[in-house]
Amino acid sequence: MPGGPTLDAYRRMVAVLDTPLVTVKGVGPKVFERLTRKGLRTFGDALAFLPLRYEDRTRLVPLAKLIPGETAAFLGTVTSLAVRQGRRRTLEGVVADASGNLALKWFHGNFGWLQNRYPVGCRVAGSGVVQAFLGRKEVVHPDLEVLDEADTPASFERVVPVYSEVEGVHPRALRRILEAAVQAAVPSLVDLVPGELAAGLSLPTVAEAYREVHAPSVGGEGLERRVAAHRRALVIEEFFCLQLGLLLKKEGAGPRSGIAFRPDFRLVKALLKSLPFELTPAQRRVLGEIRRDLESPRPMHRLLQGDVGSGKTLVALVSALLAAESGYQTALMAPTEILAEQHALSLRRLCGTVPVRFALLTSSTPRAEREAALAGLAGGDIHVAVGTHALIQDAVEFARLGLVIVDEQHRFGVLHRAGLVRKGENPDLLVMTATPIPRSLSMTVYGDLDLSVIDELPPGRQPILTRIAREKHRQGVYDFVRREVAQGRQAYVVYPLVEESEKVDLAAATTMAERLARDVFPDLRVGLLHGRLRAEEKERTMAAFAAGEVQVLVATTVIEVGIDVPNATLMVIEHAERFGLSQLHQLRGRVGRGTHRSYCVLLASERLSRDGWERLRVLSQTEDGFRVAEEDLKIRGPGDLLGTRQSGLPDFRIGNILRDGPLLQTARDLAHAVLRDDAHLTQERHAALRRALLDRWAGRLELAQVG
Ligand code: ADP
Ligand code: MG
Repeated sequence: MPGGPTLDAYRRMVAVLDTPLVTVKGVGPKVFERLTRKGLRTFGDALAFLPLRYEDRTRLVPLAKLIPGETAAFLGTVTSLAVRQGRRRTLEGVVADASGNLALKWFHGNFGWLQNRYPVGCRVAGSGVVQAFLGRKEVVHPDLEVLDEADTPASFERVVPVYSEVEGVHPRALRRILEAAVQAAVPSLVDLVPGELAAGLSLPTVAEAYREVHAPSVGGEGLERRVAAHRRALVIEEFFCLQLGLLLKKEGAGPRSGIAFRPDFRLVKALLKSLPFELTPAQRRVLGEIRRDLESPRPMHRLLQGDVGSGKTLVALVSALLAAESGYQTALMAPTEILAEQHALSLRRLCGTVPVRFALLTSSTPRAEREAALAGLAGGDIHVAVGTHALIQDAVEFARLGLVIVDEQHRFGVLHRAGLVRKGENPDLLVMTATPIPRSLSMTVYGDLDLSVIDELPPGRQPILTRIAREKHRQGVYDFVRREVAQGRQAYVVYPLVEESEKVDLAAATTMAERLARDVFPDLRVGLLHGRLRAEEKERTMAAFAAGEVQVLVATTVIEVGIDVPNATLMVIEHAERFGLSQLHQLRGRVGRGTHRSYCVLLASERLSRDGWERLRVLSQTEDGFRVAEEDLKIRGPGDLLGTRQSGLPDFRIGNILRDGPLLQTARDLAHAVLRDDAHLTQERHAALRRALLDRWAGRLELAQVG
């Protein structure tokens, strides 16, 4: 059996990679400070700081053959170099070779120093963009090097990396520092992907890969391809560690015994009979998957993904009923109070007369109610607890917590999930996400979960026509609301809440609603809905809207879930530019539920930038949640979309989930292959790998329970 790197070798590598860059010759405290500001503190940082592009100097071009517009490398003798006093001071020179000559020009810099450095008669190698100027070829601000007597052109003929700039450090100095760091670090690098697997994919060693990416050994035709192949190896290594961590976490839950639920379907049957509709085939399929997980003694770890309005809430409810029938409690956790309250409302509404007891627990639950809920949960009288992170507080005790459902909406919280799961004896876990996540991403963030997808909407949904309107069209938008209402339809006017400024926005929404009611639509019946209203008030307003008594409902994001009024055909979203596409898509899903044509108007600020406009246009072009999410991802980047800062995932240094998505699968296959014959990474040859995972994940994946 081939051995992996030893733990010692791994530790030596870590020591080298952690060495600060001040130890590089020529890096003083000041330069070090500037490097640090750019995230370049250690040798490891230097390795991961990949070139943006390369300058291929392997093909020297005779001066006469230089082509304007191209970046070229050249060799010649300085025949003149002098300061010229024109409209502005310039330094101008000429280099010549046997074929011809080339003008050089500087507009700024230390002219005296340059003249000293490149005296007439000295041989130089240079590079830069060739320009045509008054019939002559010239290079402005060339990158020059003096060739010593001993220098052959060959020592100049290489591929030079071009790095992103570091403020206050000359590009050439930066290149030299990075080169020194790479050279010093490369010999200590060990390979974490086992050799036989790496060979199967023809992966170079990590040392080779870093060396080649920073200083390609050959230029010319194959340069791009060669660099890409070596970079790929580095991405695979990085993703491999991620996937291995996720798989270990998943497997870690596997062997532990969980609950084998024994539902008798009495509650579920009663519920399904009371509903005015049938389950969609997708809901049925997904419930089958969940039921199998629940009945098996292995704890469920499942991600339920489905577009807005696909009926996830009902799936969650049926799952909770299956648990209740088996004598277990369910905890449903939502990311915000508003969403928790909405869930409680919709669950109660769906349940009707089916005998299930719910409790709502958020930080603003009144004391008496809270105490009753806590007692009910501890005593086992309450079947389903709905709440925010308040549910994972110490005071909350469950008599028999069997199922944890986390509705993550747009957010992801590996950490929170873990907290709630600890409240029971290996309860089953169902994570719901309303944001359709591109496959590559769900594998990253949820690589430890099995996936169930609701890929169809309940029947009868209408297409929604989406338009963007500027502030100056506001009157026209109001007229449109009026026209819809005149035809007997209803409309939403939504002020989405930015989480951080909930209070301010809320005040704005309330003021705006009052203004709409009083000044704009004095003749219409306008209702207001927001998270801070008392539960009864909310119920009353929603009931009035559902009954058609309220014609225009002014609301905060509260309506993101739970409201279902088929007669509502128009959704106006204020400040649309301030929100994520996925969130807007969610909101829009509240219309298009009846038989009438439906519309969504995105009201955007006059100052909306071109990019902002393009972004919103995605919504007017597609109703496919996956496409919306993918666009959102492209524009905002995965960190923003996922809130990875709080996701508990390690950061990527080389890989980019968007660009390198397909390599995630490659990495996952590798991780599977490793775990196939060493399920807990306890074999000696994987000692370094195991250590590396613990280091990289820094406890975030609870790997400690493994092995
Ligand atoms: P999601 O949570 O996935 O966004 P919801 O669970 O809120 O979707 O469902 C949206 C609406 O569709 C709700 O009013 C719900 O009652 C309704 N619904 C759910 N399943 C079905 C179905 N099979 N047929 C018809 N309507 C359904
Ligand atoms: Mg929902």
